Amino acid sequence: MSEQAVIDPLRFARDGESQERSVAVANMPRLHDRLASTEGEIRFRLAGRSGGAGKRPALDLRIDGELSLPCQRCLEGFAFPLSVDETLLLARNEAELAAWEDADPLCEGLVAEPQMDVLGLVEDTILLALPMVPRHPEGECPVE
Ligand SMILES: [Zn+2]
Repeated sequence: MSEQAVIDPLRFARDGESQERSVAVANMPRLHDRLASTEGEIRFRLAGRSGGAGKRPALDLRIDGELSLPCQRCLEGFAFPLSVDETLLLARNEAELAAWEDADPLCEGLVAEPQMDVLGLVEDTILLALPMVPRHPEGECPVE
C-alpha cells in the first residue's frame, strides 16, 4: 500500500499497487463551486492491474462518500450519496486513446502521464459523477 500523492500510472498498474485513503472535501477545491457545504470526507481506493497477456494496463478507482449539493429547486443543501466504481484504461498517448474510443465509445481511458496526481484524478472523477442539475430526491423537496 503506497501513500504517494503522485504516481507513475503504468508502473503502478504493472506492479499491482494500490492505495486507499480518506480525503477531506475541504482539500478538493475544484469541487467547492458545486457543493452546498465543504464539510465531510470521501474515501477512495485506487488499484492498478497489468491485465496480463494481451490486455491493457488499467486503474480501478472506487470512491464512496456523501456530498452536500445545492438543490436547484429549493436551493437547500441535500445529501448526495457518492458511489463511483470505474476502470480507467491507460493509453500510452492520445492516438492510442482515440483508437480505443473509436473501437468502443463506452471505453473509459486516459493518457498515462509519467507523473499523475492521484487526488487530481479523484477530483476529476467526482466532478464527472455529479448530476448536472442536482435536486432533492423525488418527494423530498420542500418546494414540491
Ligand atoms: Zn429541494
